[in-house]
Amino acid sequence: MRPFDYYKPDTFEEAFRLLMLPDKAVMPLAGATDLIPMTRDEHWQPDVVVDVKGLPGLCDIKETAEGLFVGAAVRMAELVHHPLVNGPRWNLLAQAAAAMGNEQVRSRATLGGNLCTASPAADSAPALLALEAFAVIRGAAGERRVPIAEFFLGPRKTALQKGELLIGVLVPAPPEGTAATYVKLSRRKAGDLAVVGVAALAYSHNGGHQWRVALGAVAPTPIRAPEAEAALNAGHDEATIEQAAQCAFDVCCPIDDIRASAEYRKAMVRRIARRAIEGVLEKLL
Ligand SMILES: Cc1cc2nc3c(=O)[nH]c(=O)nc-3n(C[C@H](O)[C@H](O)[C@H](O)COP(=O)(O)OP(=O)(O)OC[C@H]3O[C@@H](n4cnc5c(N)ncnc54)[C@H](O)[C@@H]3O)c2cc1C
Repeated sequence: MRPFDYYKPDTFEEAFRLLMLPDKAVMPLAGATDLIPMTRDEHWQPDVVVDVKGLPGLCDIKETAEGLFVGAAVRMAELVHHPLVNGPRWNLLAQAAAAMGNEQVRSRATLGGNLCTASPAADSAPALLALEAFAVIRGAAGERRVPIAEFFLGPRKTALQKGELLIGVLVPAPPEGTAATYVKLSRRKAGDLAVVGVAALAYSHNGGHQWRVALGAVAPTPIRAPEAEAALNAGHDEATIEQAAQCAFDVCCPIDDIRASAEYRKAMVRRIARRAIEGVLEKLL
């Protein structure tokens, strides 16, 4: 593998200085579960990597007045077991983390790395879309927040500018009594990216329910399915569930890749969306 220089700064000042080194390809590094294979296979060619795990706050999980803050360097395994994340309000994120990779991968891979890689199939993305989370981004010029729906710009493209880091995500508390499910279809039970991933949640509202449905691995970025949500907001009899599943089918535009054909993905999104909706309904009842 092509050699690179490794730094682990413990201040943002130093991290931003390194990220802006002139004439160098500099990449942040977290769990390295994407960075090492991508560099080994020469898709990425960093001259310098900047390990973010020593930066203040990046390993935090805490409740704030605005919701749950999860630092970008928090590992997936920690999300699975953390009492706050795996509690009544944000367990959709814990479910998504549990569905990701296998035990070895989850014990290295971070939430921030999963988002910054910007794979359309990233397991944490549909959950964070459904939870209407914000990406917290910091650069030398200061901090900004971007709704997760605007963070993904395309395959492997994010709203991060050169020299910026993802600090973490801020996840507002969903309304009390929210029920949520993440359902993933992959070729193997563990250790493989999603062929289709669907996150669905619902909560009581004005005598009915409000729904959010998000899809992964079926478009250039993870997406919401607003027509499916609108259908479900009107009720959840058998015909409406089928209509919502059809809306999920209609909104997706997958590609063929080594994991599945576009045709198979489209067929499966209808089934997996249905399974996620039924999973939420079971929890609501
Ligand atoms: C065997 C295996 C199975 C896998 N299975 C799955 C799966 O089921 N589901 C899934 O979603 N993924 C899967 N992955 C992919 C990968 O593990 C995840 O995307 C992981 O979450 C990446 O996190 P990381 O901390 O290892 O990122 P790294 O490899 O360290 O970094 C990934 C990218 O993010 C950038 N980056 C990291 N942190 C920051 C930050 N704070 N700010 C800005 N940029 C940053 C890096 O520069 C790099 O471009 C799998 C990988 C392997 C090897």
